[in-house]
Amino acid sequence: MNNFNILSSVLFLTKKLIKRKSISPIDNGCQKILMDRLNRLGFVIKLLPSESASNFIAWHGHEEPTLAFSGHTDVVGPGNINNWYFNPFNPTLYNGMLYGRGSVDMKGALSAMIVATEYFLKYNPHHLGTLLFLITSDEESEATNGTIKIVDKLISINKNINYCIIGEPSSIYKLGDNIKNGRRGSLTCNLTIHSKQKHVAYCNILANPIYQITNIINQISKIIENLNLLSLMTPPTTFQVINIITDNNHVNTTPKKIIMQLNFRFNYKLKVSIIKDKIESLINKYNLDYEINWIISSNAFVSNTGELFSIVKEAINFYQGIIPSINNNGGTSDGRFINKLGTQIIELGLISKTIHQENECVNVIDLQQLVKIYYRIIKNVLS
Ligand SMILES: [Zn+2]
Repeated sequence: MNNFNILSSVLFLTKKLIKRKSISPIDNGCQKILMDRLNRLGFVIKLLPSESASNFIAWHGHEEPTLAFSGHTDVVGPGNINNWYFNPFNPTLYNGMLYGRGSVDMKGALSAMIVATEYFLKYNPHHLGTLLFLITSDEESEATNGTIKIVDKLISINKNINYCIIGEPSSIYKLGDNIKNGRRGSLTCNLTIHSKQKHVAYCNILANPIYQITNIINQISKIIENLNLLSLMTPPTTFQVINIITDNNHVNTTPKKIIMQLNFRFNYKLKVSIIKDKIESLINKYNLDYEINWIISSNAFVSNTGELFSIVKEAINFYQGIIPSINNNGGTSDGRFINKLGTQIIELGLISKTIHQENECVNVIDLQQLVKIYYRIIKNVLS
């Protein structure tokens, strides 16, 4: 494999994808570009559109082992266009970096998967097992019509996926320095406290629900701290107060009603029921008139890394000279759906530093190296 050819092919495809303004969940023609390349390689393609999202499964070969690449063609909005050095949808090379929305998350990685596959099939047309692509345009928004639909389809046709590489930007400082095999879940708590409006001059501080809420927040911090200590969870379970609203619009009264919203990012080792029980029994101690409701927007997961971990580690070490760490921080990913298949999942992609920000950019040498790493992983699984 010649570096110059790899680089020009991966750059060409990445730029072509960035030019398609595919704000989630609209694909805007990105998947057609990928499918045309896969079609030419002899992949069988099944389209799985769902509402406004586009999805497809493509496969080459048959039986096991099965190795899938999972990725998304949608991107988040550009933010303030005036803060970009270059138009976010007109990919621009500057100082060895390619600027454009999606260059890292994750049109660059999608392009690296395709180029690696082209090289692999050129040298190994009669490979073992099956190589698959699981592609969606609904990852960055609700994700209700994306990979979840692909996984439902795979379950309905009894298709087993042994290994899956997700192209999410897992690297921190150097390409390949970190990979992920799971993500924390997300739990939201809406707490409403009803109280009596009182004159501030005559009110005992304890009767003010804002005072109660601040005590509750401090206690919740301690609860989460203790839970983290008990199970030594990495990454730790965290919580944030997202909002506190009252119905008060006077200067001399306490509020009648207060609504607080909390969000927990919980480690897979921690059961949601434990968080709920601890917090509800804490609030019960305060003798309040309250309502509480809980919403799990994504479940935590962790995948058994097994032999895929050794293969990925070897490929990264071979080209980058480093052994990756596993740090499952950040938000959630489509791995939570694929995990239902019992698949060994690893997220391996570009450096996350500029994702979802203005001036998202990727080092072009990283794109080239990622093609080689993906190539070596495919080769070590399927030949
Ligand atoms: Zn992403």
